Amino acid sequence: MDVVKEFGSLVFNEQVMRERLPKDIYKALRRTMQERKDLNIDIANVVASAMKDWAVEKGATHYTHWFQPMTGITAEKHEGFITPCDDGKVIMEFSGKELVKGEPDASSFPSGGIRATFEARGYTAWDPTSYAFIKDKTLCIPTAFCSFSGEALDKKTPLLRSMQAISRQAMRVIKLFGDDSITDVTTTVGAEQEYFLIDESIYKKRPDLVYCGRTLFGARPSKGQEMEDHYFGVLKPRVAAFMDDLDEELWKLGVVAKTKHNEVAPGQHELAPMFSTTNIATDHNQLVMEIIKTVAKRHGLACLLHEKPFAGVNGSGKHNNWSMNTNTGENLLDPGDTPSENARFLLMLAAVIKAVDEYQDLLRISVATPGNDCRLGGDEAPPAIISIFLGDELTAILDCIKDGKPYDKHADGEKMEVGVDALPNFPKDTTDRNRTSPFAFTGNKFEFRMPGSSVSIAGPNFIINTIVAESLCQFADELEKADDFKKALTDIIKRTMIEHDRIIFNGNNYSEEWVKEAERRGLLNLKSSVDALQLFSQEKNIKLFEKHGVLTKGELLARQEIMLEICYKTINIEALTMLDIVKQQIAPAIIEYMSDISQAINAKRAANENLGCKLENNLLAKLSCLSDELDDKITELETAVDAAKKETDAIETAKVYHDSVFEKMQELRNVADELEMITKKSYWPLPSYGDILYSVK
Ligand code: ADP
Ligand code: MG
Repeated sequence: MDVVKEFGSLVFNEQVMRERLPKDIYKALRRTMQERKDLNIDIANVVASAMKDWAVEKGATHYTHWFQPMTGITAEKHEGFITPCDDGKVIMEFSGKELVKGEPDASSFPSGGIRATFEARGYTAWDPTSYAFIKDKTLCIPTAFCSFSGEALDKKTPLLRSMQAISRQAMRVIKLFGDDSITDVTTTVGAEQEYFLIDESIYKKRPDLVYCGRTLFGARPSKGQEMEDHYFGVLKPRVAAFMDDLDEELWKLGVVAKTKHNEVAPGQHELAPMFSTTNIATDHNQLVMEIIKTVAKRHGLACLLHEKPFAGVNGSGKHNNWSMNTNTGENLLDPGDTPSENARFLLMLAAVIKAVDEYQDLLRISVATPGNDCRLGGDEAPPAIISIFLGDELTAILDCIKDGKPYDKHADGEKMEVGVDALPNFPKDTTDRNRTSPFAFTGNKFEFRMPGSSVSIAGPNFIINTIVAESLCQFADELEKADDFKKALTDIIKRTMIEHDRIIFNGNNYSEEWVKEAERRGLLNLKSSVDALQLFSQEKNIKLFEKHGVLTKGELLARQEIMLEICYKTINIEALTMLDIVKQQIAPAIIEYMSDISQAINAKRAANENLGCKLENNLLAKLSCLSDELDDKITELETAVDAAKKETDAIETAKVYHDSVFEKMQELRNVADELEMITKKSYWPLPSYGDILYSVK
């Protein structure tokens, strides 16, 4: 593949627009994109026609409004360009109206009750800040999805609103620094994606993987990841071929997939794209998740995006690298070289520190999914406690500012006054050693490591954008009024450190001591999604989102309800899948095995009464004992599910499913896993962990 030529060949991007649109239309469209305004219908007609011609030349026959409902999966309904004419022939048509607005039958997408009270249908509206692209002979138009009365029913709408909010507030602050060339600020994101690859034929033999995306049973393999021989190891030929193919598909779609490597667990891999604006990064990550799966299938592989497909083996996350960029190409989280850049950097840093401390709950909520509940707090993932890693050096610098003391860089007595005028140069790479922090400063961006691998990054990012917008808003309020700008700036940075330094932690976040220390500091530890989601509707959160025009109270409550619903519905499906597997596959297999052992004992006795049957008898006794226990656990799980179904309130239902059903599932699993370990392999109905994890040769 000629990468340079093929890159973005399926995207209606800047270059194509410039080539294919009349100059005035192109300019008008650019203006709409930059100012994030509605598109005039005359312009839309011209754009639509050019888009259609381009897409048809590339073999497209259909178009779709590609949107991201609250389920986190992308949705699309394909419409043909084909239009009949009077003479019995057809033409390919696509109007401006069809481009800017669609009306999918939205009644089957979750709305948290919003649509019921207004209008049954919703509409989709083109988001011109994200390029249209071709996938499966279909022109995909990235769109936002709203109810007829304008409430957001999707993940994109609040994200776009939050980008505007942070841009507005950041610009207020930037203006005060007197650089007129900066007229816009956008947030940027690079989302590293982890996933597992297993052989598809093995995958199909595991109903739990097929229905739930994770194994609900499975004894630990004797060789796990303790050898750490997989991380950055040589790619197996099948995996390498898959990755080449994946890269090509993504490049054609304009996704700059850059790095790929093996991860810690066997069968686990990672893909990192080059960062882009939050909005495009989110669309691209949705595409990445989809394309990984289709390309895997082509290679006879199954891709698992679940946060914790295998108990006792590392789970998969998504590292959300976040920063703020100006239209002049400056990264606002880059320490910079001049006094003015230093001061601006410190202020932006302070804004993030304050935001993360004040809205720990929201950050935790942004990653609250049932899959992530299985992963957070495991050995490989940050615990559910939010904290910031800054690195020892930057922390020491901020401490000096806080205490008004000079900074001793080399600890050799040579002191330096630090503050908004001067910052010592600190090597960037020393700030990225800590891999255990949920929110780490990595030189010129923050890396949020809590999102699960299957989540849409729209959620975490609309929250990060909004909470930082709020800090910046408060700073701007103060700075705009100040007589002495520099003094006010120093005060803000000092005060932020005094009030919020409890959120900074540079130690090992996976340690037991940290959990205790965090409690002492008064930091939240919201262990489960339900614990977290309950706090979503706190007054301070409603006020925050309404103030910045990101979510109305109604939209927030709807979102809370949908997220809770996803939690308990997932556990319900998992519980029912478990019961099916255990009753239809595991129990009959054990009965057969026990019966064969009994027959073996009888046969031995018939041959010679004096022969001992210690091994057989002991095994049979163990199997019988465990199978009795299995039967008890089946009944207990069924009872728990029945009880949970009776709950009507979303929070209560989610709590019962988490506290009781999930517990019972674990108990049932433990017994089944013990049985697996003493059952002859050929009798066991499911491929083992070893079979699955080492299935790709
Ligand atoms: P890691 O050591 O965590 O693997 P990398 O250096 O590979 O980190 O980069 C991780 C991601 O951060 C990449 O997707 C990269 O594009 C992204 N990134 C780099 N700079 C920025 C930025 N200014 N804003 C957002 N993301 C960024
Ligand atoms: Mg990373």
